[in-house]
Amino acid sequence: MPRTILHVDMDAFYAAVEQRDRPELRGKPVIVGSDPKGGRGRGIVSTCSYEARRFGVHSAQPISQAWRLCPQGVYVRPDMRKYARVSGQVMGILSSFTDMVEQVSVDEAFLDVTGSRQLYGTGREIAAKIKGRIRGELGLTASVGVAPNKFVAKIASDLEKPDGLVVVEPGREREFLAPLAVRRLWGVGPKTEAALQKAGLRTVGQIAALDERGLRRRLGEGDGATQLWRLARGMDDRPVEAVEGCKSIGHETTFERDTSDFDLLHATLLALVEKTAHRMRLEGVRGRTVTVKFREEDFATFTRRATLAAAVDTSEKIFPVALDLMKGLFREGVRVRLVGVSLSNLGTDGDGPNGPSRQLGLFRDEPPEPRSTPRERKLAEAIDDISQRFGDRAITRATLVEKTRRP
Ligand SMILES: [Mg+2]
Repeated sequence: MPRTILHVDMDAFYAAVEQRDRPELRGKPVIVGSDPKGGRGRGIVSTCSYEARRFGVHSAQPISQAWRLCPQGVYVRPDMRKYARVSGQVMGILSSFTDMVEQVSVDEAFLDVTGSRQLYGTGREIAAKIKGRIRGELGLTASVGVAPNKFVAKIASDLEKPDGLVVVEPGREREFLAPLAVRRLWGVGPKTEAALQKAGLRTVGQIAALDERGLRRRLGEGDGATQLWRLARGMDDRPVEAVEGCKSIGHETTFERDTSDFDLLHATLLALVEKTAHRMRLEGVRGRTVTVKFREEDFATFTRRATLAAAVDTSEKIFPVALDLMKGLFREGVRVRLVGVSLSNLGTDGDGPNGPSRQLGLFRDEPPEPRSTPRERKLAEAIDDISQRFGDRAITRATLVEKTRRP
C-alpha cells in the first residue's frame, strides 16, 4: 500500500507572524533579521515577507545587501520566543492528525498520515483541513505537499508557495519531477550541478531516463550516483521519524458512552493527569509541554497544547494547564468519545534548573518558573507510595471523588 506523506511548510513564517500581530505591516516589505544599521549592519536576513521578495530580498542574505535592495522595507528584530510559541501551536494542530510528525525546523514538518486516512480522508483532504485550521486558529498560511514519500512531498510543498497545496498521486512521481532543474535533487550542490551540466543533464527527467549504470559512468563511482538516480525517479523510502523531543508520556480513556457532561470530563481528566504524573515520577522524567486530546462523537479529533517555562511532574502543576486546554476544546452539547492527556518535551531530573530546553534552542531566554514546591513534591511522593502499596484506585483527590459521586 503506498504511503501518504505530507510536507507542511509555513509561508514566510517570522514575517507572517509579525504582519499578523502588527496590522500596520500588512502589505509592506517586512524584513526580519539583524539590525541593518543604515546599511552597515553585518548580520543576515532571517525571513522576509513576499512583498520584500519582489525586491530581491531573501533569507540568509547579508542584511546590508537587503538594505541596498529595499531601503524602504520595514526592518524588524526577531522575537524567537513568540515564534517558538506559534510553532508549538502549529505542531499541535499537525499532531492532532497523526502521531507520526517529524518536525524539521521551527516552521516545517513531515507527517505520515497513511494510518489516518480512514479517519480524516485522503491526503488532499487532510492537507486542506490542516491548512484550514492553521488559517482559522492561527491566522497564518502554510503550503502543503502530498506525495507517497518525503522527497516528492518536500518538492511539492515548495511549488505553489504561498498558500499552496500540491498533490502527487502514487505512480506519478517521476512525471512530476521530470521538468525540474537538477539542482532540486537532494545532494546536488554547485559542483555536482556543474558535472551534470557538463554531461548534458539539465533536468531531473534527463537523469531518470538514463539507466543507473549510465549515470554512474557520467558522474564517476562513489558520487552518490545511485541515490541521485533513485531520487530522479521519485524513489525515496525513508520513514517519517517522530524525533526524540516528541516522545511523550500520557494516558487516555474512551468512555463507554459518549458524554457531554463537563463534570465527568473534569474528573476523568484529573484521573488521567494523576496517572500520568505518577508514571513520570516513576521514570524520573519531567515534561514541559502539556497536550490534551479530545475525540468527539463523530471521531473528529482535536488537540491543544501549552508549553511551560519549566519542566514539571506533579498534578498540581499539570492539572490547571490541562483543564484550561480542555475548556478550550469543550463545546457545549457536543459529545466526547475519548479524552487524553500527555506530557512531552521531556527531560530527566538532571537537566538543569529550568528543565530540558531542547526545542531548537529557542527557549534560552525564557525566565525560569518556580518548579514544584517541596510541599507538592511531598504530597506527590505520598500518593506514589500509597498507590504502589494499594494499587491505582486506592487514592483519588477529593474533587475527583466529589464529582464522580454525582448521579
Ligand atoms: Mg517556511
